[in-house]
Amino acid sequence: MQQEDISFYDWQQKYSTHEECMSYIHSEKWPNGFICPHCENNHGYYSPKRHYYECSTCHKQTSIISGTLFENTRIPLTKWFWAIYWISSDKGGISALRLSKLIGCTWRTAYRILKILRKAMGDRDSKYKLSGIIELDDAFVGGKKTGKRGRGAGGKTSVVIACETRGQRPGFIAMQAVESVNKKTIEQFTSDHIDASSIVNTDAFRANVGVASFATHIPKVTPADMVDEWLPSVHVAIANLKRFLLGTFHGISQHFVQEYLNEFCYRFNRRFWEDQIPNRLLKLCIILKPIKSVEQEFSA
Ligand SMILES: [Zn+2]
Repeated sequence: MQQEDISFYDWQQKYSTHEECMSYIHSEKWPNGFICPHCENNHGYYSPKRHYYECSTCHKQTSIISGTLFENTRIPLTKWFWAIYWISSDKGGISALRLSKLIGCTWRTAYRILKILRKAMGDRDSKYKLSGIIELDDAFVGGKKTGKRGRGAGGKTSVVIACETRGQRPGFIAMQAVESVNKKTIEQFTSDHIDASSIVNTDAFRANVGVASFATHIPKVTPADMVDEWLPSVHVAIANLKRFLLGTFHGISQHFVQEYLNEFCYRFNRRFWEDQIPNRLLKLCIILKPIKSVEQEFSA
């Protein structure tokens, strides 16, 4: 669906109050009017002050934000909405410190918002399976220097990366942080992210035989200087990832690498309609189930 392009000025004007944010969520959630999630009755009494409906049949109360990513949040909706704009628009990836200054909150709150939004991005992309002709490889990220497997692994995380090839250009990508690259993790990655009808090109690294359990595998012994010819698309994605991680996020802890991969992939996969990302992400937050584990992690 075509989404409108929007500047931050217009975005801020459009969602400048709690009421405006609520009204937007309402229109997205119930485009044809209220439907009770308990009994599917389409009539309820609205409390404008508390933003909930009471069903006229079962009398259960349903808040406008229940069942969305904003359920039970104590962070003002305006700050959520503005954060969605910034995480969507900052190509280099926005840091918690910068976001905290832009939307006026503590570093901890900004960090929490970013964590939840990155999780939402990952959830969205995990519903898509790469297909067609795919290139698969792995890389080390984090630590001081990004590199290739087997060299100076201190403080680094292995990442498995797959990329659809669309002529000369990379198509959709998927990235997964793994403990180590072995047959089992490659199998799991292929099963999670790659459609069984796909043809997957890799170098002849032993672990890559795991691909064959779930898709057609074409390994090729590749000298280091030839790797960009055999696997060009996936290396474009890896080079972009390196720039993204080095630009904003210095020395990411191993534990959090997947969050940043989620954000990177989400934006890379939508790079041809970049201006629409804020609207798409906002809509995603409304249809997504609340991410309780993340909220709980912070309230503990
Ligand atoms: Zn009802």
